[in-house]
This record gives sequence, C-alpha cells and structure tokens, in this order.
Amino acid sequence: MTDYLLDGGVLADGKAVQVLIKDGLINQIESVVSTLGATNLQKISINGCIILPGFVDLHTHLREPGREDSETVESGSRAAAKGGFTAVSAMANTFPVADTAGVVEQVYALGQATGLCDVFPIGAVTQGLGGTALAELGAMADSKARVRIFSDDGNCVFDPMVMRRALEYVKKFDGVIAQHAQDPHLTKDAQMNEGLISSKLGLKGWPAVAEESIIARDVLLADHVQSRLHVCHVTSAGGVDIIRWAKARGIQVSAEVTPHHLLLTDDLAESYDPIYKVNPPLRTQRDVMALREGLADGTIDIVATDHAPHPAENKECEWQAASFGMLGLETALSIVQATMIDTAMMSWGDLAMRMSTSPARIGGYADHGQGLKIGSTAHLTIVNPTRAWKVDRDLVASRSRNTPYHGMEFPGSVVATFYRGIPTVLDAKLESATHGN
Ligand SMILES: [Zn+2]
Repeated sequence: MTDYLLDGGVLADGKAVQVLIKDGLINQIESVVSTLGATNLQKISINGCIILPGFVDLHTHLREPGREDSETVESGSRAAAKGGFTAVSAMANTFPVADTAGVVEQVYALGQATGLCDVFPIGAVTQGLGGTALAELGAMADSKARVRIFSDDGNCVFDPMVMRRALEYVKKFDGVIAQHAQDPHLTKDAQMNEGLISSKLGLKGWPAVAEESIIARDVLLADHVQSRLHVCHVTSAGGVDIIRWAKARGIQVSAEVTPHHLLLTDDLAESYDPIYKVNPPLRTQRDVMALREGLADGTIDIVATDHAPHPAENKECEWQAASFGMLGLETALSIVQATMIDTAMMSWGDLAMRMSTSPARIGGYADHGQGLKIGSTAHLTIVNPTRAWKVDRDLVASRSRNTPYHGMEFPGSVVATFYRGIPTVLDAKLESATHGN
C-alpha cells in the first residue's frame, strides 16, 4: 500500500501542517512529520489548500437498481468523490424500492465493489413507498447494510399513525426517520413555490405551509414517542422557526438544507426552464436568508445534496411535464463556500461539522466524521478555496446533465479526495507536483 505525505496544507483553523497517511490511516499531523517507517511514500504538495474530513452526504439518489439510464452506484460514486464525499446515503426510491434486506444489501455491495466511497443504503419506511404498511425495518437494520436511516423520500409519510409506528420501531436500534415533509393534499399538481411568481406565471403553487405543517406534526410525534426525527431538505423560513422551537424544547430532531436552497430562488422559474424545477421547490430570497442563518446557528445541522439525476428527456421538455430534481454532488462544496464561508456566516470548521461530523453522527457512520483524528481512517477532502472554476454540464461525472449551475463560476473547489487513505480524486495540477520519495 502506498503511504502519502500531504505537504504545505492547512487545517480548518488555518494552522500549517504536514499530514502523513500510513496504511490507510491518519498517522501524524505535525508542522513537520516524521516519515520514518513509511513505505512507498508519495509526497503531494497541496500548497495552502485546506485539509478537511471527508464529506458525508445523507441524501443522494443513485437510481440503481432500476433507473441506470439516470445514474448508477458507480457513476454516482464517481460524482461523489469529485465533490469531496467519502460516504453517501442512497435514497430508497429505486425500482425495486429499497424496502427489504435483499435490496439494501445489493446497493451496499455495489458501493463496496465500486470502492470510490462508502454507499450506505437508506431503507424505505413503508412497503413500496406506499405510505400504509411498514417495510422490513428490523431486517434492513440487521442486514449487512446495517441500515439506520429510513425514508420514503420523494413521498411523505403522511399517515400520522404510520409515522408514529415507524418512529417507535427504529428506537430499538437507534435508527432515525428522515421525513420528506410535504402534505400531498396541499401540493396536488403543484409546480413551484406558491407566491407572486407562481401567480404571474400561472403555475400551480406549492405553499410553504405544506412543508411546515408536516414538520410541526412530526417534531411533536418524535417528542411524544421520544424518538429521532430527521427533516429532509428544509426550504422555508417557517420550517427553520419550527425546528428551532423543537430543539429548544429538547426534541430529538435534526435537519438538512440543500446547496440549491441556499443559493437559488423561485424567480428563476420565470425562464420556464425546468432545470429549476425541484421538489421541494425553490423559495424566496427571504427563505434563503433564513436557511443560511439556520445553518450558521446550528438549527439546521447539515448540508445534504438531494442529488437527483434525470435523463435529458425528463428535463428538456415543458415545465409541467418535467421531472423534479437537480444534480448536487459535484457542486456542493463550492456553493456552501460561496453562500456561507465567503459571506462570513460560517468558518471552515463549521463547514467540516455540517458536511462531515454531523451527518456521520446522524447516520451512525462510525468510520466517518471523525475529524482529523490520529489513528482514524484517512477519509479526507482537500479544498483549494481560491481556485475558481466554471461549471460545465458536459464535464460532470454523473450520468445525467441536469445541473442548474451550468456556466456559473464558483470561487473554490475540491482538488483531492482520499477514501480509506487512497486518492479517488487528485487534481492534475497537484499530480504534477507529486513525486515519489
Ligand atoms: Zn425529498
């Protein structure tokens, strides 16, 4: 196995260090490390780049099994590695649905065989995402995939009795229910955020209250049965307020925000370009600012991508006919930097907490989110905060092209990702500075 010396980097707090990766583990972090005993050592000059713990995404749609035309575990893992992720949680809304031990073990095994990041399957809450009968939660938890997060994402677990039973059931193995909060009656045929723009465009509106009412109900249910709730993709100022209230009462709730909801707003729909059609929808600038504040103050625990690949025929069509969703893995870091770090709302240490430590804790992924701890598995993301880049949909690793950021410039980028001590991504400029020792 090759050992690596990262030379010239800085930690999240700005401290200049060398990092020695030996036998796949973080061996030393010092101003000057000792390389005695390292074998087959490769030195990589990272020249002022920031060394962060490997990112963990709790909300990824990898589409396999069943929609391999959109994405596969392999192509999605490649996109994840490019985005600095060393672990992703694969959502259950595949064909077949990941509602049995057999399907989650299949997805887990595909991830291990690909070997670019850990793929942790999320199990469905209800059979076939149907919303009525609980899926085999216990069997999925006991399976080789060790499922701890359960979600019907794409659908809301709308029946409060089913939600209550699910919350109760997962307590025995410290699981968590990740809810896609959307009242289906309030959002029937809805196309975009309900507001001035939807009225102007004549598109059916999707009110924030459809999300907020479910979040409010679910935090009360989680409190009642003393279980853990995770709120997927919060989009509205009102949702942030409810979660803030619940946390103040000691309710076990965690929440995520997507990069796109930190940046984009509903007025983009004026283009009628379905690249901006997403579930839950883009909201207003006021909501964007509340989400940023919620992420900064810890009300929202994590950033999760909701990476949702779709083939061209489902996105390059009329707005009403288009699928909901956008790519997210390869651009996440850049958008969080642009919206949260470069606006001085968060530090790089905060970013490491919200993109690595906290998601790993919520998902129970013990091998991830350890920070840069000596002796822990070397899952690392190296960021150059001043290497600007322009997003090009034709250069994505994903099998789909539906990025809303095509042509946009961002201030910083991931230049290397180490998964289990091995570089899964290494920027060509770094590579040219690499030499054996
Ligand atoms: Zn969702």
